[in-house]
Amino acid sequence: MFCKTQELKSGKSKTLFCTESPHHLIMLFRDDATAFNAQKKATFARKGLVNNHFNAFIMQKLQASGIPCHFEKILSNTESLVKRLEMIPIECVIRNIATGSLCKRLQIPEGMELSPPIFEFFYKSDLLGDPMINDSHILTFQWASEEAITTLKTLTARTNAILKPLFLQAGLLLVDYKLEFGYDQGKLVLGDEFTPDGCRIWDIKTRKKLDKDRFRQDLGEVIEAYEEVARRLNCPLP
Ligand code: 5GP
Repeated sequence: MFCKTQELKSGKSKTLFCTESPHHLIMLFRDDATAFNAQKKATFARKGLVNNHFNAFIMQKLQASGIPCHFEKILSNTESLVKRLEMIPIECVIRNIATGSLCKRLQIPEGMELSPPIFEFFYKSDLLGDPMINDSHILTFQWASEEAITTLKTLTARTNAILKPLFLQAGLLLVDYKLEFGYDQGKLVLGDEFTPDGCRIWDIKTRKKLDKDRFRQDLGEVIEAYEEVARRLNCPLP
């Protein structure tokens, strides 16, 4: 049995708690949503529950295919037990279809298929608005070693090879997403979350947006879209 002791960190949509075990944390998914570096805020009933179950479903699929993940088990509708990681302050983004910041930065038409997929690093900093960086910044500022950079790229590409077809067979396009990694006793492990908050998912036929862009762009029916993605992937929700 793992019980929460003190709060470790409260982020924009999740809170992390310490447990009696130095190697485990409890991750609470809240109903809060933020966008544009927390300039836009809202709460949505069931968001915490849906994201907790969605994250568990995806992380278990990844684990079953050999991707090391921090997820251990669901503890309640909104809480999961995870391994305590020493996080790398970097976001790994993979893009299968052009949208979002890529289109703005390089004037690429939205919806263009990206083959091979584009991989990008961003430095996690709310103050700086998560600027894009490359391997050279990571090495010079010692955010990760050359070997770790290779592992981050390999694990992100392997994750894409697992998740792209999983979404496709549900009639969904996994457009792009962000992953974060950390060290578990020296080993690089996927941390944070994989939910519609941190990826873009479009219906394959209509290209309807079924992710956090519904909140970012005031499209409405945010959680209804998350639940539709879960249902189509056969991810059970209470
Ligand atoms: P973009 O760079 O186009 O804004 O985002 C690319 C992908 O990474 C999108 O799926 C987006 O949801 C995800 N992403 C990038 N940065 C963040 C972040 O700070 N938080 C979350 N939740 N997702 C992010």
